[in-house]
Amino acid sequence: MYMRCSKGHVFPSNVGKNLFALHLGPRKYQMCPVCHSFRITARVRPQDLTDEQVRRLEGGGTA
Ligand SMILES: [Zn+2]
Repeated sequence: MYMRCSKGHVFPSNVGKNLFALHLGPRKYQMCPVCHSFRITARVRPQDLTDEQVRRLEGGGTA
């Protein structure tokens, strides 16, 4: 499962899961590991990701 921050960064949902996160229904308020800011994040459907993003995410990175 992947999350997308309000700036469009995509990262695996297990990144930073030990850090503070405020759950807001389907959304969370959490630290984005890409821009290192607290952002509203939402689940991303796999079909909404590009092949390039999937490749980078599956390699353990962020997109
Ligand atoms: Zn971000």
